[in-house]
Amino acid sequence: MDNQKLADLLYPNARPIKQWFERYPERKLAKGAQVTRFAPSPTGFLHIGGVYMALVATTIAQQTRGVCMLRIEDTDQNREVRGGIDAIVNGINAFGLKFDEGKLSINSEVGDYGPYVQSKRTDIYRSFAREMVLRGKAYPCFCTAQDLNDMRAEQEKNKQNPGYYGQYAKCRNLTFEQIEANIKAGKKWVLRFKCPYTIDDKMQTHDLVRGDRFIPCNYNDVVIMKSDGTPPYNFAHVVDDTLMHTTLVVRGDEWLSSLTEHLQLFEALGLTPPQYAHTSTIQKIDLVTGERRKISKRKDPEANVEFFVRLGYPDKAILDYLMTLANSNFEDWRNKNPTAPLSDFVFEISKINTSGALFDIVKLNDVSKNTISTMKASDVYKMAFEWAKKYDTQLAELMAQDPDYYTAILNIDRDIAKPRKDISHWAELKSIYNYMFDDGFDAKSVVFPEKFNQNQIKYVLSNYEKYFNAQDDQSTWFNRIKDLAEVMGFAREVKDYKKAPDAYPGHCGDVSTILRVALTGRTMTPNLYDICKLLGKNRIQNRLQQVLANIK
Ligand code: GLU
Repeated sequence: MDNQKLADLLYPNARPIKQWFERYPERKLAKGAQVTRFAPSPTGFLHIGGVYMALVATTIAQQTRGVCMLRIEDTDQNREVRGGIDAIVNGINAFGLKFDEGKLSINSEVGDYGPYVQSKRTDIYRSFAREMVLRGKAYPCFCTAQDLNDMRAEQEKNKQNPGYYGQYAKCRNLTFEQIEANIKAGKKWVLRFKCPYTIDDKMQTHDLVRGDRFIPCNYNDVVIMKSDGTPPYNFAHVVDDTLMHTTLVVRGDEWLSSLTEHLQLFEALGLTPPQYAHTSTIQKIDLVTGERRKISKRKDPEANVEFFVRLGYPDKAILDYLMTLANSNFEDWRNKNPTAPLSDFVFEISKINTSGALFDIVKLNDVSKNTISTMKASDVYKMAFEWAKKYDTQLAELMAQDPDYYTAILNIDRDIAKPRKDISHWAELKSIYNYMFDDGFDAKSVVFPEKFNQNQIKYVLSNYEKYFNAQDDQSTWFNRIKDLAEVMGFAREVKDYKKAPDAYPGHCGDVSTILRVALTGRTMTPNLYDICKLLGKNRIQNRLQQVLANIK
């Protein structure tokens, strides 16, 4: 077969690949700098596993002073969804992930190695397809869907592996004249890789996460250009990562099984492949079956990062959590460096989890509580307010009524050595602090612990007014509670009560409990002193009266 003649027939106007190499020269980067990329397909939303991968890819690039690109892989029109690119770009921006190049905003791109959207790179793919033909490494295949179905049925009957190979690769041996006649007749065709390997061959592969493996390799004449003239993932990956000078492909481990196919394509074009780091996909425990499985776009709302954005998890918290999944030593580091930026953490590719990163929302909540506890009250207010304006207008109105009051509430137990960790996402704010607002306080639903009798409760409620002074500091405030306890015959000090529990009906802490429950409806709250100070004398008095009125 005359390869040149065939290439001219199949790709008459395609440019030689040399021109693309001139257009996209080697990058001038320091030694050791990694060029990575996150390459999602626009399937409708940004998957939490995508953010995980993007975090790993951007972190590696930053730490090696390299480059990370955001490339949109939209050649599979069947998977593509309207607005899919926007969802990715918006999602990535919402998480503050730092990319250097690529499709970084909806209307434009950044960088010299674009276009970064695959559907805009058709000319480039055609050149490389032509090169494959010129090298005698690819041929057109005219098999119809029916032909392929028949082939599969026969393979099944003969108990042979499925695929387009060996005796089944019918179009491999077409003559130039047959090909020309088919094309003239307007028959549809795809371009197939003339795979030089057989079913018994093995190949050496290297992966930065999983190490070296000598594994059975691809023996199929896989499609590298579809009948619509665009490449499937395999060929687009080889072409793009070559011309964009990617040094490290970080991608999900679902691609491990086709790694040898990709390596063969690099080999066929005489190119050096990048390094690979296949990360495990994010998994969860299925609530029904109790089994571990991949987080699925179809079954799990939390697959879509929008789920977390809607609930108001700060992006920092999600990234911190994903980093705990990526590197097992991260949590330790974070405990020692609670406020350090994530970029200070020394990420190690070799420590990437290989056994499947288990997503656990309880753990996410803990991480998020830690993250939020390190923020200043004014920052919490700002972030929560921005969120509320979009997702909870009632809360936004409440916060806007008196920003100082709301910020002061958020500041309770915050600016101290061991700050309180009670907020994991903004949607919780209303239920956590509702009692600080009259609308959220319901005297009728106040229930006191059973250990207190009616008289004790009534006494505290009717007399506390005399013991409260808005100007008191915390110890004076508590001393007055102790005074009240003493008047009631309760122990003034807890330690006295502990020494002789039968000598007293209770202690000063019990008086605080009665007050706490009466004022907030809860047995557990942040510092009661701060709550009282913020509520103020009138509100305190008013609540105590209301509760008293409900006690028969
Ligand atoms: N478009 C592929 C996907 O969404 C990307 C794989 C890669 O990063 O190479 O799975």
